[in-house]
Amino acid sequence: MVMATRSDLDRHIVQHMAIKHQRLSDKSGHAWAKIRVRILRRDCGLCQPCRREGRLTLAEQVDHIVPVSKGGGDDDENLQAICLACHDDKTRADLGLKSVTAFDASGFPLGPGHHWNR
Ligand SMILES: [Zn+2]
Repeated sequence: MVMATRSDLDRHIVQHMAIKHQRLSDKSGHAWAKIRVRILRRDCGLCQPCRREGRLTLAEQVDHIVPVSKGGGDDDENLQAICLACHDDKTRADLGLKSVTAFDASGFPLGPGHHWNR
C-alpha cells in the first residue's frame, strides 16, 4: 500500500509540473505577440483612450485596462490598443503619480486628460 501511495504521489507531481510548464509557455513572448496583434487588429490600430476623447492616434502598444498588478488578466476584454503618450499617462496614474502635462511646439497641451482637450 505504501508503494501505491508513493506512485500516486509521483504521478501527481508529474501532472502538476506538466500543468506548470504549460502555464509558463502560455505566458511566453510568442503568445503575447499573438494577443498583441489580435488586439491591435480588433481596435483598428487606433489608441482607444484617444478615440474616446475624439482623436485618432495610431496605437503602438497593447495595454491592460485593469493592470496585472491589480488582478487584471490577459483576456481580450481587459486589453486595449494604446499610444505611447496614453500608456505613459496611465502608468503614472496606476502608480498614483500625478500626470505630467506635456506641450507641443505651439504650446498646446498634449495630455488627453487636460481640460483644453476635453
Ligand atoms: Zn492615446
